[in-house]
Amino acid sequence: MQSNYINSNKINQIGIIADQNVLLLFPFYFDELKKNFPCHIFTLLPGENNKCIDEATYLWQNLLEHNFDKDSLIVNFGGGLITDLGGFVASTFKRGIPFINVPTTLLGMIDAAVGGKNGINLNHAKNMVGTFCLPQEVIIDTQFLKTLPPYELLNGFGELIKYALIGNANLWQEIQKLQSIHCQNIKKEWIDNCIHFKNEIVTIDMEDRGPRHILNFGHTIGHALESCFMNSEPTLSHGHGVALGMVSESFLSYQHKLLSEEEYLTIRRFILQFYSFPKNKKQISEENFKQEFLKYCHLDKKNTHNNINITMLEGIGKASPNHNISEDECWQSLSSIL
Ligand code: NAD
Repeated sequence: MQSNYINSNKINQIGIIADQNVLLLFPFYFDELKKNFPCHIFTLLPGENNKCIDEATYLWQNLLEHNFDKDSLIVNFGGGLITDLGGFVASTFKRGIPFINVPTTLLGMIDAAVGGKNGINLNHAKNMVGTFCLPQEVIIDTQFLKTLPPYELLNGFGELIKYALIGNANLWQEIQKLQSIHCQNIKKEWIDNCIHFKNEIVTIDMEDRGPRHILNFGHTIGHALESCFMNSEPTLSHGHGVALGMVSESFLSYQHKLLSEEEYLTIRRFILQFYSFPKNKKQISEENFKQEFLKYCHLDKKNTHNNINITMLEGIGKASPNHNISEDECWQSLSSIL
């Protein structure tokens, strides 16, 4: 692993917070680091349920036991689960110790590991407790994509579609040519474009007060769906939720006359060829599902005054944040893909 931060700072010890699956796949990745620094590896089980306060406490306790301080370094090694949780733990331990992210999923590379949002879930509500704190460095190593299961690649691709739709019409044109999603046809240059775009927005609005809301396109409905399916088998991945959320929120953009019908239908067709609504649409009645879904929509952190806040599209390649919509509109937009 090549790290400018490690090469140019005095570091007393390193704590590697690693996803167990990834560590098993890349057992020698930290061999060089281990030769040069005292390293402690803290392994976590995969699964969104583990992005929780119990795991954070387990990590804080270990850092305390091993005397971690501001001259120590945390290396988060895994997907968004690890970079969110590890970033949260590092940014709160002793009011913040340095950390770097080594994302191993596509979603992590283009989104979760970048931009400084760290956090954990509270009960089933996503990312309810967290911090804004940038990693010292994000190391992009696309070799990790080769072992990603196809479902996880699609998960990250959902966010890549988002970046194209909110800010890069050329990227949208390019990805339109894809017939299927494999690691070989995900170009490194696309990953770099997404990171660059996100970094630009984050530089203007680190704490999500306004301009950064455009990154939430697809997320109000996406997060609510993800929460609804958190306890079902299989669960719904973040990117899958966002992909379905983008279809719904494009529908709303069309209804609000910001997007043409043709643009909406193109987006819908492209996304639904890769992503579909989970068949196990819960073992509960539609009415109960609706209530649960709307409850989670209301929990979205962008909401104010009990409204549901949505980022819409104003044509392909341009996002328009902060539209308030009613519960009825919200449910109608989801119904369009059920
Ligand atoms: P994840 O971290 O849960 O990983 C998904 C699965 O892939 C796991 O089973 C993991 O073990 C496996 N995996 C990881 N890397 C692998 C590799 N190289 N080869 C094989 N398997 C591998 O999933 P994710 O999609 O990366 O992250 C989702 C999380 O990210 C969610 O909690 C979401 O809320 C968060 N997120 C955060 C932000 C942010 O800005 N902070 C943005 C988007 C998403």
